[in-house]
Amino acid sequence: MSRRRQIYEGKAKILYEGPEPGTIIQYFKDDATAFNAEKKGTINGKGVINNRISEHVFSRLSHIGIPTHFIRRLNMREQLVRQVEIIPIEVIVRNVAAGSICKRLGLEEGEPLPHTLIEYCYKDDALGDPLVAEEHIACFQWASNEEMHDISSMAIRVNDFMSGMFAAIDIRLVDFKLEFGRLYDGDFSRVILADEISPDGCRLWDMKSGEKLDKDRFRRDLGGEEEAYREVARRLGLLHDEDSNPGEVLDLSSHRTRLRGTPAPTPKK
Ligand code: 5GP
Repeated sequence: MSRRRQIYEGKAKILYEGPEPGTIIQYFKDDATAFNAEKKGTINGKGVINNRISEHVFSRLSHIGIPTHFIRRLNMREQLVRQVEIIPIEVIVRNVAAGSICKRLGLEEGEPLPHTLIEYCYKDDALGDPLVAEEHIACFQWASNEEMHDISSMAIRVNDFMSGMFAAIDIRLVDFKLEFGRLYDGDFSRVILADEISPDGCRLWDMKSGEKLDKDRFRRDLGGEEEAYREVARRLGLLHDEDSNPGEVLDLSSHRTRLRGTPAPTPKK
């Protein structure tokens, strides 16, 4: 069997040349990084879960008319996507104050924002993905005004859809990151949603307990990251019964699962 050509290796994914021109294979790794790759580790099974979650979210988004790069999932860790020219902007959508905005503006984590906020960061690891204004994007021609119009309206639609999707399974969508790419047709291009949507790039809080079900568990050394990612997949209906014990209820406060009906372990003094 001929070896596939690797196009790019990122922190959480490897991209290979796809079987047809204009296609790419995205391979999801278990590697996890935080703080601009200063902290490195692995989350067992993360690649498999993120591949499934991203497939689910992108498929549902395309059903509501959001154009995406997703074509189909190939296997446990790989999906076939359209090749795009990635726009070098991270689009951050925030509903609730958390993470970098709290440090920057002195906000309390968990404060609902007066309205949904979109922020843009310039994708550059060496610079630590700095926050930029739309003026910078226009000035340095990272994206045109028309593209920015499409990007911001798609980001709002994605937020509206995902907020509802997660609320239905008792998860608060606090914030998330999107990436977009240009799909060329001759000299013309249009912007479509690219990359992935998974607990690696979203803040997801359990509505009742407030437990974090996302990469903040790894970033902040909270433990239980595998269980948290699996819990998101389970609630989305993506794990089969043989993958999870249906009688289990997640108790991330002790980083363990306990059987429904059994008392929670008493914390050690
Ligand atoms: P913050 O700016 O608070 O660090 O991140 C805001 C949101 O965007 C969080 O949900 C975070 O996971 C996501 N995010 C920001 N930058 C990155 C990044 O470089 N990679 C990933 N996977 N997610 C990011």
